[in-house]
Amino acid sequence: MRPPLPQVRLRLAGATAAWDLIAPATYELLDHAGVAGLLGRLGPDPLREDADPNRAWANRNATPSALGAALIDQSVIAGIGNVFRAEALFACRLHPSRPAASLTRAEFDRLWATLCAMMGRAVDDGRIVTVDPSAGRSRTDIPEDEARYVYKQACCRRCGAPVVSWILGGRIAYACPVEQPAA
Ligand SMILES: [Zn+2]
Repeated sequence: MRPPLPQVRLRLAGATAAWDLIAPATYELLDHAGVAGLLGRLGPDPLREDADPNRAWANRNATPSALGAALIDQSVIAGIGNVFRAEALFACRLHPSRPAASLTRAEFDRLWATLCAMMGRAVDDGRIVTVDPSAGRSRTDIPEDEARYVYKQACCRRCGAPVVSWILGGRIAYACPVEQPAA
């Protein structure tokens, strides 16, 4: 079993698996009714095999928010933080300020598939690496400050354009102005 990352606040471990609590927004002990109520307020989680993307599609359609704000709204889709928001929208060439309700079904399906793949890879890797490794290099060799295309980058790691950033949904959004043109 892999040792916990430095930012882990709590690890619950059995003989073959461990559950790590990283950067929680709140700590709270809940009874069964509380757990059911909490889960009922969450959108589908892309990391779960039984996640229903149709629920996220419907939630997205019902929100007046910008896409970038909707993505980190846990009632729309669960589990997406600021790194996945920035990198998944970049990968899909979607501008974060675009209205969430304006996504076509094809664009949404691509975004959902991107989130599932990106988040699943991060679980396997134990860290978030979204850049494609250059030839002869593996993802695990990529240093932390080179591991993302636009998140906390001065320039886009794919095309070199200066990354733009602004507050969206209470967090800093990042985008490449060339590959994610404003709608
Ligand atoms: Zn770019």
